[in-house]
Amino acid sequence: MSAAIAASENGANVIVLEKAPESEKGGNTTYTHGSIRFAYNGVEDLKEIMPDLTPEEIESTDFGTYSEEEYFDDMCRLTDYRTNPELASLLTSQSFETMKWLVSHKVRFVPIYGRQAFKVDGKFKFWGGMIAESAGGGPGLVEALHEEAKKLGVQILFNAMATELIHDDEGVHGVIFKQNGKTTEVRAKAVILASGGFHANQEMRTRYLGPKWDLAHARGSRFNTGEGINIALKIGAMPYGNWSGAHSVGGDRYLPDHTEGFQRLSYPFGIMVNTEGKRFVDEGADFRNYTYAKYGKLILEQPGQAAWQVFDQKVARLLRDEYKVKQVTKVKANTLEELAEKMEGIDTEGFLNEVKRYNAAVRKDIPFNPNIKDGRCTEGLEVRKSNWANTIDEGPFEAYGVTCGITFTFGGLKINTEAEVQDLLSQSIPGLYATGELVGGLFYFNYPGGAGLMAGSVFGKIAGENAARFVKQHEPLKLT
Ligand SMILES: Cc1cc2nc3c(=O)[nH]c(=O)nc-3n(C[C@H](O)[C@H](O)[C@H](O)COP(=O)(O)OP(=O)(O)OC[C@H]3O[C@@H](n4cnc5c(N)ncnc54)[C@H](O)[C@@H]3O)c2cc1C
Repeated sequence: MSAAIAASENGANVIVLEKAPESEKGGNTTYTHGSIRFAYNGVEDLKEIMPDLTPEEIESTDFGTYSEEEYFDDMCRLTDYRTNPELASLLTSQSFETMKWLVSHKVRFVPIYGRQAFKVDGKFKFWGGMIAESAGGGPGLVEALHEEAKKLGVQILFNAMATELIHDDEGVHGVIFKQNGKTTEVRAKAVILASGGFHANQEMRTRYLGPKWDLAHARGSRFNTGEGINIALKIGAMPYGNWSGAHSVGGDRYLPDHTEGFQRLSYPFGIMVNTEGKRFVDEGADFRNYTYAKYGKLILEQPGQAAWQVFDQKVARLLRDEYKVKQVTKVKANTLEELAEKMEGIDTEGFLNEVKRYNAAVRKDIPFNPNIKDGRCTEGLEVRKSNWANTIDEGPFEAYGVTCGITFTFGGLKINTEAEVQDLLSQSIPGLYATGELVGGLFYFNYPGGAGLMAGSVFGKIAGENAARFVKQHEPLKLT
């Protein structure tokens, strides 16, 4: 929708093909909380993005800063320095401008007090570089963009699935699509692909991500089944990025696919064990939003693709809201022994021994502080916990059954900095642009939370502007 708005305000006539019915419009974006990561230099910048910030909020909050350099560093660090530097640089340097542009198109943002800030000495302190979400979460963002697009005259066709690109040696000339079962076509001078990745396609998941990925729980939209990528590959587009990688998280073991409230992300404050009772990951390696996107895969690799997250009373108050919903695989007990009995499929003895070993390894001399990487670690364990290590010894104890949920895929198409889709010879395919999840090369292994929506917006805006320019350049000359 960012692409559609940008193309439209730059003078193009725009039609959006949306595969979903109107009631399910908006793809993965609808499923988000709307958390969005952008660079800012302090509260004056934030006032431009969130003009509704009250003096009381400003007074009672330490928003910190998050520079373009820090954002770029996060992109590099979290992707093991694989991210395409040109695309990452564009994402980070254009993030603030693009936020202002979204605001100018009536998208409202609010601070994420609930999930990204803790109260310290009476003041909220934000951590992890992400401070804003769209008002109304993902659905609010999608509604706002749809409203604006409609106002600008963009035509939106629902139940309209793109199935092929109309293409010859000169480039792309439109799209063949199926609407309500009827195949039809729309001729266009430029096409922007923005139809997400293939997380909801079990066959593609298994083919590209590997064995067991068919067994992962699919979060998000059921409509992101990879057609956008496949129709571009069919005309010679270059596959690019981390095709064997995906964003995946730990989430409730038994919730069905495409259910909201699936994720269980407070693991940094407890431990995660597999059904043998063994810890298998450094739960406190970094702030949650720097690790959650890669830990789903590690759960998928455990026996039965399952794990338990275990917390004691000392930290239970820190659990995120998603732990308090009705649909939750949870057991609770006053003693660890009783808890182990209730944890389905667990090796009881293995678990109790593991907790004993873990408790003994916690560096109790280092103070616990959830707002910073506190360095309160374990010592001498094969699987270390680097921060926020607390002994698990104060009942009642709580354990939450989790499995892997795939959020979105990382591999996709290659674009240049103009958002033009590249072919197998690294030439732009005339008239073809891409943005969002189906662009490869930004995320590898992991991603900084909030960078997905930002990438869709930054490259959407660029794609829309350039597609509109392309259309103008290729309009027939009018005789006067
Ligand atoms: C549960 C969940 C939570 C998330 N939370 C966040 C978050 O807080 N912050 C963040 O930055 N990122 C988050 N993400 C990732 C984020 O959703 C994506 O990075 C981003 O929304 C991708 O935007 P997009 O426009 O590329 O794709 P989408 O928003 O998925 O949109 C793709 C659109 O294309 C349509 N479509 C698909 N195939 C076709 C076809 N063949 N023809 C026509 N239309 C088609 C779909 O119906 C959909 O409308 C989350 C994802 C999920 C699933």
